[in-house]
Amino acid sequence: MLEGGPSEGISCTEQDEDVLSDNGDVEVECHSGPVDVSALQKQYSCALRKSVFKYSLKLREKYVLPASTHEAIVADCKSLISNVLSCHNDVIQCHLKNNGYDVSGDDVLTQDILDINQYEQLWFDCDTSYKVIRNCGDVLGRIKPVEHIAGNFKSYYISLKDTLTMLVQKEDIAPFILQSFSCHESHLTSFTSGDAFQSMFSHIKGSHVLLIHLYNDEFEVVNPIGAHRGKHKMNATYFTLGNLPSKFRSSLQQIHLVNIVKHKAVKDEGYAAVFAPLVQELQELYTDGFTASLPGGHTEKFHAVLCTVSGDNLSSHALAGFRQVFNSGRVCRVCMISHDELADKCVSDVTLRRAETHAYHVEAVRQNPDNCAIYGVTGPSIFSVLPYFDVTQGFPADVMHDCMESIMPVITCAVIKLMVAKKLISVAQFNKSMSSFVFKGSDRVNKPELIQKDCNIVGSAAQKMCLFQFLPFLVDLPECPVAYKLYLLARDVMMFALCRCISRQDLDYFEQKIVVFRQYINEHFPDISVTPKFHYLVHYPLLMARYGPLRAMWCMRFEGKHQYFKTVANAVGNFINIAYTLAMRHQMLQCHLFAGRNVLGQELTLPSSGKFVTFTSLQIDVQQCLCYASSQIWSVKEATTGGCKFEVGAAIVVDFTSDNDPVFIQIKHLLIPHEGHLEVIGKLLIPIDFSKKYYAYQVTDNGWAHFHQGDEKDCSVLWPYEIDDNVYVSLPYYIPTWSSY
Ligand SMILES: [Zn+2]
Repeated sequence: MLEGGPSEGISCTEQDEDVLSDNGDVEVECHSGPVDVSALQKQYSCALRKSVFKYSLKLREKYVLPASTHEAIVADCKSLISNVLSCHNDVIQCHLKNNGYDVSGDDVLTQDILDINQYEQLWFDCDTSYKVIRNCGDVLGRIKPVEHIAGNFKSYYISLKDTLTMLVQKEDIAPFILQSFSCHESHLTSFTSGDAFQSMFSHIKGSHVLLIHLYNDEFEVVNPIGAHRGKHKMNATYFTLGNLPSKFRSSLQQIHLVNIVKHKAVKDEGYAAVFAPLVQELQELYTDGFTASLPGGHTEKFHAVLCTVSGDNLSSHALAGFRQVFNSGRVCRVCMISHDELADKCVSDVTLRRAETHAYHVEAVRQNPDNCAIYGVTGPSIFSVLPYFDVTQGFPADVMHDCMESIMPVITCAVIKLMVAKKLISVAQFNKSMSSFVFKGSDRVNKPELIQKDCNIVGSAAQKMCLFQFLPFLVDLPECPVAYKLYLLARDVMMFALCRCISRQDLDYFEQKIVVFRQYINEHFPDISVTPKFHYLVHYPLLMARYGPLRAMWCMRFEGKHQYFKTVANAVGNFINIAYTLAMRHQMLQCHLFAGRNVLGQELTLPSSGKFVTFTSLQIDVQQCLCYASSQIWSVKEATTGGCKFEVGAAIVVDFTSDNDPVFIQIKHLLIPHEGHLEVIGKLLIPIDFSKKYYAYQVTDNGWAHFHQGDEKDCSVLWPYEIDDNVYVSLPYYIPTWSSY
């Protein structure tokens, strides 16, 4: 429900929507000649009032403050500003009196200009949480969660149509929506380059099409090992807009809340009851669409289609209408394999599920529920009412759950276990080696947990991936050739599984790698049980041909969104109708984040700290790299622009050698010679060898170089490591030379 209309408090003039720029600065038009002081003062008050409102909203939502803290800070701000104004007024009056001006005889000065009470009014609309919430819809068009009853539970749904309407009206989003879909015939870079989109697109005619990627998952808002475990487990559904390039879609801001409800509601009442408003709106968005007026003032018609639904395998099977049992019977939503065939069958021996056979399975189960076990199907998917949506194609595999949380730690564990069994290392020695290894930058953030006595790997998905990637730096793998070979094969496969871009030709090579990897496990590591997740991997080349790189729809970033809700729940500490509280706070935050006209963060974003350096204080080589010379240059440690983060010390892929090996620049300086212009200067690192031992490129310093934002071939932030006087850069995934991330 889109709130709007005339506001009680803040409506000033018709144009005041534009009085504030995105960052909240006040911009008031300046006239030449004599100025009407009271009119000017009124104009300023209006602009300031809105600015103060935005500040109060930002304070509450960006820093996730409880109501009492928010109100206390606002009260402090109020009194601080009063004190500043009153001191300032005293100084002005003194100065005027000293110069013989009759202050007391000037009513405009004493009663209007110097009246500090009028500034108290600036806070009138936003000095309590209640007022911020009440006025947020009027001032900034917050999209309100709508209550929907599912059995005994209250579920909160945020209209897709309202969110989409708000998005298409943003100046930097509109161009991506209006452009036609184009794709290279071989290069797979996004969902729109895959086969699933091509076949779906043939159903869609006319108007502009918005692509919806849904994600569903459950999470605990309280300590998962505490006394309230399970009581406050939530089920959240988000969406991202597939029309945006994936580098923008991964930002938490571009992940929109669709529905939130207690997980028990889904268990007790079923997905169909909870998702009724979503399914109904998806039908309307496809058949009727909606119109919206765009930044240029013209009106356009839009339709929206559901492209994919991501989640863990349990949620995906539940939403798609497949059995949610993974230790017996048919366990795969892509093919008809059964659990006891997992270890032996490879991809060429399985029967793939297709729309026609699936319809037959659903009908057979409807006639006799016992057929459920035969086909692995429980009934129609809640999304099967959408005429264009193919249930056998709409639920892609998730790289995070399959690879990062399952395959990578299983392989890491098997490698260490074998080395321990061969007495090449002990668990204690391994943990000691990990503790003393200095992980750098973003690798440090994901520093793995110590491994357990039985070599089991614990920690988050990102920590497990970090351990898998840096395993060769922690232990001498070639000492144990059988384990070393397993690691190399697994790493080759994961390089493709995690990639951002891949060509159709590479998919054949990827498939061969998977076959060899699986055979090697069967022959040399019979103790590794081939779970359904290991099986799903064999479908990855096929799935990437369908959906493009699977990374674009992985669950990794959605986990970050859950973290936001956990923070809110802990800050608020009130669990009465927690679903409503979380939905409401999220929508207030979105309101703050989407208050401006540009919302993708393409512009240069800098940290608040940095320092001025003079041109002459820079090394001659660095001076020569600068395109723009300026006497005072702002120097920072990190900068974000165009969806890519640059950090001093990190390396970025900027080119490829004639052998297709990546060339890096290790960033040494991030300089801003004039506003909005970033110069990235560093050392060019040329690959001299690919070290199999470290599964990393050995590089050599080739002197100073600079590059411009947009010249980078990939947005991964890589950290060079120095070992025995050699420098290595380890890539987390395969980057083709034509990469356009
Ligand atoms: Zn399968």
